[in-house]
Amino acid sequence: MPSKLKKKKSAQKRLQKKVKPARSARATTAAKPVRASGTDPQRVAAILAKLDQAYPNATCELNHKNAFELLIATILSAQCTDVRVNQVTETLFKKYPDAKAFAYANPSELEQEIRPTGFFRNKTKSVMGASKAILDKFGGEVPRTMEEILTLPGVARKTANVVLGTAYGIPSGVVVDTHVQRITNRLDLTRNEDPKKIEQDLMQVIPKDKWILFSHQIIWHGRRICQARKPKCVECNLESLCYAKDKTI
Ligand code: SF4
Repeated sequence: MPSKLKKKKSAQKRLQKKVKPARSARATTAAKPVRASGTDPQRVAAILAKLDQAYPNATCELNHKNAFELLIATILSAQCTDVRVNQVTETLFKKYPDAKAFAYANPSELEQEIRPTGFFRNKTKSVMGASKAILDKFGGEVPRTMEEILTLPGVARKTANVVLGTAYGIPSGVVVDTHVQRITNRLDLTRNEDPKKIEQDLMQVIPKDKWILFSHQIIWHGRRICQARKPKCVECNLESLCYAKDKTI
């Protein structure tokens, strides 16, 4: 073989050797699962059907007559049960019927009135701040877009999704509270712990027209069956679809 051809062939071999590791590295990266493996569309559809069966009428358990009351109740519900919030708002909404009344409330009086819900100083600031902003910037109406509602003091995505979804029927996202965080991990619909990331995962696997109901159903399921400690798996209609490590059967 002429020496020029020999040199060319050995150069090609050297190049092939160099390329091989890069190929295997690419294969390793591609093998990483992008989503939790429980997000196969058929499995997700089966979970949704079971939730519809168990909780066809799931809805928000915070008492309210309009979007503004729901906003205030949701702010008060942080680190507090809905039952306790409902006890407090029953008298609160009679004394303060609208945004104007809350905006001009006496802060120390209001603090004492919402004290049973916990974190009352911060919650008073949020309730009064949000009410003022609603009056000054939005003509006394709770805004209807995620972008606008997030400008209100004390309002983050969870509260925004509750209000937009439940009061206005706008599927802006998926409410991720402690129940949704726990149960969607147990059901392998996400493998994230951060609520923002969980919400993004769920928005990819749950059809948009189910976002509002799905949140309520999972919250109901968390309160009634799939509790943090000792979930009642024997009574759970999702049991055949669930392979959570902490299942009790
Ligand atoms: S089987 Fe148990 S862990 Fe799984 S969703 Fe049902 S209650 Fe929760």
